[in-house]
Amino acid sequence: MNKIARKPATRGKPGTRNNKYVFAFGGKTDGNASMRELLGGKGANLAEMASIGLPVPPGFTISTEVCNHFYAYKESYPASLRGDIDSAIRQIEKQLGKKFGASGNPLLVSVRSGARDSMPGMMDTILNLGLNDETVEGLAAASGNSRFAWDCYRRFIQMYGDVVLGIQAENEEEEDPFHQILDRLKLGLGVESDGDLTTENLQDLVKKYKSLIRKKTGKSFPQDVIEQLWGAIGAVFKSWKNERAIIYRQQYGIPTEWGTAVNVQAMVFGNLGSSSATGVAFTRDPANGEKSFYGEYLVNAQGEDVVAGVRTPNPISFMAEELPENFRDLEKVRSKLERHFKDMQDFEFTIEDGRLFILQTRNGKRTGLAAVRIAVEMQRERLMTQETALLKIPAESIDSLLVPVFDIKALKAAQVIARGLPAGPGAATGRIAFTAAAAELEIKRGNKVVLCRTETSPDDLKGMLHSQGILTSRGGVSSHAALVARQLGKVCVCGASDISINYERKTLTAGKVVLREGDYISIDGTTGAIYKGMIESADSEVKRVLEGSLRQDKSYTFELFQTVMKWADRHRQLKIRTNADTPAMARQAVAFGAEGIGLCRTEHMFFEGNRIDYMRQMILAVDEVERRAALTKLLPFQKKDFVGLFRAMDGRPVTIRLLDPPLHEFLPHDDVVRRQLAQKLGVPLEFVIERIKALHEENPMLGCRGCRLGILHPEITEMQTRAIFEAAAQVLKGKKKIRVNPEIMIPLVGFRAELQDQLDIVHRVAQEVIQKRGVKINYLVGTMVEVPRAAITADEIAEIADFFSFGTNDLTQTTLGLSRDDMGSFYEEYQKKEIYSQNPFASIDQSGVGKLMTLASSHGRQVKSELKLGICGEHAGDPSSIDFCHRLGLNYVSCSPPRVPVARLAAAQATLRNK
Ligand code: ADP
Ligand code: MG
Ligand code: MG
Repeated sequence: MNKIARKPATRGKPGTRNNKYVFAFGGKTDGNASMRELLGGKGANLAEMASIGLPVPPGFTISTEVCNHFYAYKESYPASLRGDIDSAIRQIEKQLGKKFGASGNPLLVSVRSGARDSMPGMMDTILNLGLNDETVEGLAAASGNSRFAWDCYRRFIQMYGDVVLGIQAENEEEEDPFHQILDRLKLGLGVESDGDLTTENLQDLVKKYKSLIRKKTGKSFPQDVIEQLWGAIGAVFKSWKNERAIIYRQQYGIPTEWGTAVNVQAMVFGNLGSSSATGVAFTRDPANGEKSFYGEYLVNAQGEDVVAGVRTPNPISFMAEELPENFRDLEKVRSKLERHFKDMQDFEFTIEDGRLFILQTRNGKRTGLAAVRIAVEMQRERLMTQETALLKIPAESIDSLLVPVFDIKALKAAQVIARGLPAGPGAATGRIAFTAAAAELEIKRGNKVVLCRTETSPDDLKGMLHSQGILTSRGGVSSHAALVARQLGKVCVCGASDISINYERKTLTAGKVVLREGDYISIDGTTGAIYKGMIESADSEVKRVLEGSLRQDKSYTFELFQTVMKWADRHRQLKIRTNADTPAMARQAVAFGAEGIGLCRTEHMFFEGNRIDYMRQMILAVDEVERRAALTKLLPFQKKDFVGLFRAMDGRPVTIRLLDPPLHEFLPHDDVVRRQLAQKLGVPLEFVIERIKALHEENPMLGCRGCRLGILHPEITEMQTRAIFEAAAQVLKGKKKIRVNPEIMIPLVGFRAELQDQLDIVHRVAQEVIQKRGVKINYLVGTMVEVPRAAITADEIAEIADFFSFGTNDLTQTTLGLSRDDMGSFYEEYQKKEIYSQNPFASIDQSGVGKLMTLASSHGRQVKSELKLGICGEHAGDPSSIDFCHRLGLNYVSCSPPRVPVARLAAAQATLRNK
């Protein structure tokens, strides 16, 4: 991933000659589309377009190597550059019959930035360069339009003053000084639009601009066009390190070593009158992917006018009437670009007095839905193969076909009150509930709820289950709230530090807005936006088809979804399982294509209804007899849950993890609940408090949890095993004769002896039930690999395990010595300093944790070649981690139900990418 910086030390050292730094396009063309590292995306594609005969104004690209040289050697250039640029300019002059800096028919150029990946608007560009007091008259004479010439001149001085000379607004509220002058002039003249300014007005403006420059810099505006050119080139290189660009690179993980190229290109003019125009177009609709021409343009305008919003541009379809011939040309360009670049293109064009020029093209940015639709349709149009189409869809895009969405019209009218971290994608709207209990109450009344908490704990699970979405004011994207939300497929916005929640007064405050419990709130887990009030939202079409409330042939989105999934299944090698604890989750996952359960967390089964009381009774028991009594009451519930799960999975493998969390997590923190519990159990409150104290652990993550619990209290393992096999027997013997394939998983094993201890219990109880019920049950017993010691001693453990499942959440915590819930204080600093390239809890730390996984896999399979390998951590839904798991040769990945489709696609892409 991380490209090593091309160090200029050897190649571009001052004085070392014969490096090619300048690449021409538009006449004799040196570059092509594959050279984006050297020429930047813009430069490479300008060359490519020129070479396929598209009308590109001639120019040249100064390579990214020069940028690296510029920064390595105190903002200086390779010695040969000056000569190369001189001759490149001469080339253009010859081709166009114009001269740079000449008083008759002068050549004007643009100086444009352009990095390897497009960074729209982040860096600087200067237009109309080459104008001065003399050449402006030359341009006026040559074009026969002196208003146009002076319009170009004032635009140039303004851009140059801003970008090269650094004359900018003092603060964000203020307009830049050039615009202030322009506004004052227009006000004085009583004109509204720039277009109403006469030649004389523009000449006056130029005078004013020049004196501003003299005042601010102590020097006059440079009249020497060569000086202008070098000033602009330096400014564009410098803009690689402006604040905007740096922030953008951080956001998108673009290394600073890439550098930008500089493109110098002959100007064409969209501001020559009513048969001239400039615009931006997409070959297909980037919002929904539809194959329709999309874009906008302005007549008699230049460059940024379209984006800058000086005048409202027209939709591209208007061109069919206004400039019909150019529109036909543009349609041809549209299809030529697509056929050539084989992807949706976003391109810039200018019409100069009836002649069309193309100034840029790149693969267009698009929404998830558009990504899917474009890939599928381009495959159908034979523009790409199925394999290419699959690789073109960012795996995450599939998600946007599945999540509920806000109604677009309703959204426009809504008020954003704050923003948080987008942690669970989708749209949720509902009444505010500050507690799980309040949430339940609202649900019973038939209302939708958004659970709003400062942060969440396992106690809130039930409330979360019933809510449309979860909003927290604290905690990051890997906080409990976020984790569970993703697991449940809930919409979630977390860490919204601008809101404050007061549980006592039951208020949620964001700036001046105060909302109370029961008021409506809406959250967008895709963007992190929080809105006041109710916003209409709808289930995704795909979900409605899968659930049967929408007919398949009524949804094109569903057809797209099905197509991509079918293709993906054809190519992938990894099996996709799911992490599911309830029949409902299991059914949803199966509908999404899950091929088994890779993790059923049995502790989640203890929270429902009065089970929690029996659970608490079991935990508080002073001896085995009491503990067994409580467990006996829990057994039927567990059995019933497993029956449901086995039925829902219909013969697919079901991995059940025995009780994992430390027991105190099940005990109440709250005094009132403690008192109620004491009453229910008929024990004194002091006893409850004493026991809770006794169970307290300094560091529960590393305390009595996982297999340690079952080793300390074998009766828990016995009960759970009995429940599993009783359930299996019942389902097997049921009328429907459903097959059952349980895989029992022992958590937090670090020693072979730990596994052996639990294994003995599981096999003993399993055989008891099997014999008693007279059934044959195929089952496996394996272990999680989630502490480094398990990975390191994998060969020993593999001898007695049927399978390994990498629990990468804990494996990351224990390998990095880092609690997932305590990253808040330093994570941001770590990101800034790029110490973690990614959040290690979101994407596998391949060079650290990944090494342990590699070790465990190879040692495990050396001992037992048929050892089944899987992963059930959060990472199993992350595309780049899935790619890693594929390369590791795992049998399956197991992710949350809503991530199953993403995982299917990512697994196929992993196969194709690693062929
Ligand atoms: P960005 O990368 O921010 O889009 P560009 O280098 O593409 O910046 O330039 C900004 C604007 O100037 C674009 O609208 C482009 O079409 C216009 N432009 C750039 N070069 C020329 C040129 N040679 N002739 C006419 N317009 C140009
Ligand atoms: Mg551009
Ligand atoms: Mg674990």
